[in-house]
Amino acid sequence: MIRVTENLPKIRDLLDKSAVDAGRRPEAIHLLAVSKKQPLEKILEAAAAGQRDFGENTVQEGIDKVTKLAESALTWHFIGHLQSNKTRVVAEHFDWVHTVDKLKTAKRLSEQRPEALGDLNICLQINIDDEAAKSGIEPDELADLALAVADLPRLRLRGLMCLPAIRTDFSEQRVPFARLRKLSESLALQGIATDTLSMGMTGDYRAAIFEGATIVRIGTAVFGPRNVQSDNRTE
Ligand SMILES: *Cc1c(COP(=O)(O)O)cnc(C)c1O
Repeated sequence: MIRVTENLPKIRDLLDKSAVDAGRRPEAIHLLAVSKKQPLEKILEAAAAGQRDFGENTVQEGIDKVTKLAESALTWHFIGHLQSNKTRVVAEHFDWVHTVDKLKTAKRLSEQRPEALGDLNICLQINIDDEAAKSGIEPDELADLALAVADLPRLRLRGLMCLPAIRTDFSEQRVPFARLRKLSESLALQGIATDTLSMGMTGDYRAAIFEGATIVRIGTAVFGPRNVQSDNRTE
C-alpha cells in the first residue's frame, strides 16, 4: 500500500534538494500531483496533507473528480489532449489547461470561460521532440500562437509545457527541457513574458528542475502505480 501522506513530504524534499543543487529557490518549484486513474480517497488523503494542485488528463474522469471534490477547494489542472469540442466543460471546471496547441481551442476556452471563475490559466504545449504520435505545436509556430492567445479575454497565458520522449540519462533528459526554456526566453524577447515552465514527471523531474521547471507534474511517485484496468481508457 502506497501511503500518500508519507510520500508527499519525501517528494517535496527531493524537489527542494534538486532546486538547491540547481542553484534555485525551492519555492520556485510547484508540485502538481497527477491524480489521473487514482481513486478519490487518495486525492483526499493528499489534500488532507496539504497538497492543493491536482492534474487530470481526461475530460470525463477529470470533471467527475472536480465535481465530487468541490468542497475541498482544490486547484485543478487539465494536462491531457483537449479536443476543441470538449472545451466547454473544461473551461467551466478547471483552473489551468496545460495543453493548448490550437488557436481554435484557445478561442473556445476564452468564449466559454465563465467570467465569475476568473481567468483560466493557459500553457501552450510544444511537441519538443517532434514526435508524430504526440500533441503540441512545432517550435516555429509558437510566437504566432502565443501572441494570439495572449490577446484573448478570460485567459491568462502562463507559459509552456512539454512531454518529451523518455530518456534515462540525466544529461540527455536535460536536452528537451533546455529547448523549452530557450523557447520561453525567446518569447520574452518578443515581449511575451510568461512565468511557467510545466515540465518534468516522476522519471525526469530533476533534469527539468535543472533547466528551469516551475511546475513538475508528478503522478506515480506521489500516488503509486495507476489503476491499470482503466489504463486503456480513451477520450
Ligand atoms: C501521467 C502524466 C504525468 C505524470 O506521470 P508520472 O510518470 O506518473 O509522474 C505527467 N504529465 C502528463 C501530461 C501525464 O499525462
